[in-house]
Amino acid sequence: MKIPFLDLKVQHQALKDEILLLWEEILVNASFVGGRHVSAFEEEFAELCNVRHCVSVGSGTDGLRLILLSLGLRHEEEVITVPNTFIATTEAISQAGGRPVFVDIDPDTYLMDPGEIERSVTPRTRGIIPVHLYGQMADMDPIMEIAGKHGLWVVEDACQAHLAEYKGCRAGSVGIAGAFSFYPGKNLGGCGEAGAVTTSDLGLAARVRMLRDHGQEKKYSHTMEGFNSRCDALQAAALRTKIKRLPEWNRARRKNAHRYIEALKDLEGIKLPKTAEGRLHVFHLFVIEVDDRDEVARELHERGIGTGLHYPVPLHLQQAYSDMGLEAGSYPRAESSAKRLLSLPMYPELTEAQIQYVCEGLRSILS
Ligand SMILES: *Cc1c(COP(=O)(O)O)cnc(C)c1O
Repeated sequence: MKIPFLDLKVQHQALKDEILLLWEEILVNASFVGGRHVSAFEEEFAELCNVRHCVSVGSGTDGLRLILLSLGLRHEEEVITVPNTFIATTEAISQAGGRPVFVDIDPDTYLMDPGEIERSVTPRTRGIIPVHLYGQMADMDPIMEIAGKHGLWVVEDACQAHLAEYKGCRAGSVGIAGAFSFYPGKNLGGCGEAGAVTTSDLGLAARVRMLRDHGQEKKYSHTMEGFNSRCDALQAAALRTKIKRLPEWNRARRKNAHRYIEALKDLEGIKLPKTAEGRLHVFHLFVIEVDDRDEVARELHERGIGTGLHYPVPLHLQQAYSDMGLEAGSYPRAESSAKRLLSLPMYPELTEAQIQYVCEGLRSILS
């Protein structure tokens, strides 16, 4: 059996006719940027996330960056985040003029450890970006409380957590704003690049809307310099086709996760993902920990099973951040999990037989 780490073809086979119908209309009308699909998608996504405003942008990275610029982040101001995330989180901070400051994670959920935040707050700290990694929201109550106490904002990196929940609140609705990615492999993915900002703050939404479109409030009137970071009509139409299925897809992901866990829970030498209390996990990724990770991955590949690594090198140990002078040992929990983690195949269309095959493979490799 061959089981790719991610199979995007099955999903698009099923949606092909529906998407092509909308794309044909766009092609005939030649209305490629903006238009009814973009505004309709923004309304639909805002409603699903339980926020007043959604502003679509060019990517999740741009979403984060435009939020930070809209919040008025100034040169050298510090933003607290985690080292075990995709580099987009810290690129957004640096490119908005700020400085990323890392805090270590909870070793069971891989999410920001709220107990680590306060010792990293300095007079230059402006905000916190928790990352809802793998599809599970960070521990927002203590994070929001610490932020309130120190006058900081909280921006959610929700790029892996479409419709995840924390105590009944949806990702992107708890902090001042949230950034989402619609990169093809995300729980909600376009047929290309796209992203969105969610917020219930009207002023912030208006500033992001201006920044994504050259700082224009209306045509020919540039309030400030901005960027070209709009979501195009083809992406918005594809996303509208898919957004209807998102709740059902997330349910399928949770079911698949449950099947993995049931099949692997008595296996020794493996740490399974943990859902913390009060969370609705949407399993963007299913990440286990094993000793000898590279060998296990190699043997799974021999059996035709694809795997991923999210992420094998924490950001503070990347060359891009060598000027921070943070050595190995700076964030022991993030570093230890980076060496041991392994992402198993996870998508809504995985079949029970495929999951069984992966689990049998793991069982024979580990015993
Ligand atoms: C995917 C991702 C991003 C960036 O999104 P793009 O749309 O690829 O720019 C940011 N943060 C995290 C945690 C992500 O997984």
